[in-house]
Amino acid sequence: MPEPVLFNTQGRQLAPLVPVEPGVVRMYTCGPTVYNEVHIGNLRTFLFEDLLRRSLAYLGYRVVQVMNLTDVDDKTILGAHRAGLTLADYTEPFIESFLRDLDTLHLERPEHFPRATEHIPEILELIERLIERGFAYESDGSVFFSIARDPDYGKLSGFDLAQVRRGDRVANDEYAKDDVRDFALWKAVKPGEPAWDSPWGPGRPGWHVECSAMAMKYLGETFDLHCGGVDLIFPHHENEIAQSESATDQTFVRHWVHSEHLIVDGQKMSKSLGNQYTLTDLLGRGYAARAIRYLFLSVHYRQKLNFTFESLDGAAGALRRVDEMRFRLAHAAEAGEPDARLAASVERLKTDFATALADDLNAAAALAALFVFVKEVNVAIEEKRIGGGDRERIAAALADVDRVLGVLDPAAWPAEAPAADDDAAEIESLIQARNDARKRRDFAEGDRLRDELTARGIVLEDTPQGTRWKRR
Ligand code: AMP
Ligand code: ZN
Repeated sequence: MPEPVLFNTQGRQLAPLVPVEPGVVRMYTCGPTVYNEVHIGNLRTFLFEDLLRRSLAYLGYRVVQVMNLTDVDDKTILGAHRAGLTLADYTEPFIESFLRDLDTLHLERPEHFPRATEHIPEILELIERLIERGFAYESDGSVFFSIARDPDYGKLSGFDLAQVRRGDRVANDEYAKDDVRDFALWKAVKPGEPAWDSPWGPGRPGWHVECSAMAMKYLGETFDLHCGGVDLIFPHHENEIAQSESATDQTFVRHWVHSEHLIVDGQKMSKSLGNQYTLTDLLGRGYAARAIRYLFLSVHYRQKLNFTFESLDGAAGALRRVDEMRFRLAHAAEAGEPDARLAASVERLKTDFATALADDLNAAAALAALFVFVKEVNVAIEEKRIGGGDRERIAAALADVDRVLGVLDPAAWPAEAPAADDDAAEIESLIQARNDARKRRDFAEGDRLRDELTARGIVLEDTPQGTRWKRR
């Protein structure tokens, strides 16, 4: 298997992935803040992370993935307060809907889903360590990280601290700090807010420190990959590095991988533009989850994904091509020796697919390799070259690449698999009846059957090899 190369945000260049423990990749993926139903932009990032874990598994690694759930922050607290619910009662349905979305899009479950509220002791321990080492200080019951004490702050984002002025977003925090650029590790309780006991009085953790504490608990002080959308590079991931490395003197993460955003019709998603979609919205409009998964996989993770309904139709069409090939193959006669050209096609698919994934997750190139294969199989069917065992070999090759893609097997998506296959058998028999009618020169019956097929949205094409058909 080829060695994977991935773009590292830190240093901004392609670099080989070199895991701490050979053969095992430990990855941390920042999960959702569970205060509403996630939107398809969030899902693009989570799907990229699923593609990454499946690709690494395909390339021979054992993967340990952690995805946290941010279940305490300003938004969850405000939401719970407005709803008159405890934090746990308020966030639970959003955690459930998030997990349901992951299942609907066939994302593999990460090995660990830690929640911030269940890791307060680990968080307190990390903050205490930072205070002891002189990197953090207490002020009015809150604790802040002192950026001035951390000389390499900014190394991930290339952020120039001298540029940060009072009133900037990063400095915009109501708590009392020595330096406007410092960020909160622990926030003193405010009236009506949930709080946990700490050496500095009751309060709650800051967002950044949750991720550092949970990442190191499950993956160790140094681990291989840390991922998220590009908006997390600064300040979230920059702050995670500052906290973790100041506490341990070790490299926190070897390789930072960030995915670009999803936009809709060329514009940022926003409530005011009315273009912020959830998975439920798209399914409600009759789009198949399988096509959504395919569309998201087909755009390189470092490119913006411009979501349009036309592109979703295009994705559905691409999947149909694979389904139709499967169907034709199932009905093709198998005769004689296995076909040597098909065996070579199978090998080429495997090589090109793995090479594309190892090349910074080039899923578009991996899909191109798949469609070359589909075409070669179609030609083999037309030329009646399907020999003994070829059908199984082709099915196995599709199943092999589907370990990464997760979209090729219509039976795995039963709720929405159109009656395509049964329907297809019926269509084939109508076509056969039409051809028989024409052979016996019953053109009226032939035309009637063609009209019936047309009414069902089937387009016929008579070729020297026989009649081909497709859906309109
Ligand atoms: P949040 O719940 O806001 O922390 O977001 C969860 C994940 O979704 C993070 O990795 C974000 O970077 C990512 N994300 C947020 N908005 C978008 C978007 N429009 N496109 C892609 N990813 C996004
Ligand atoms: Zn995080």
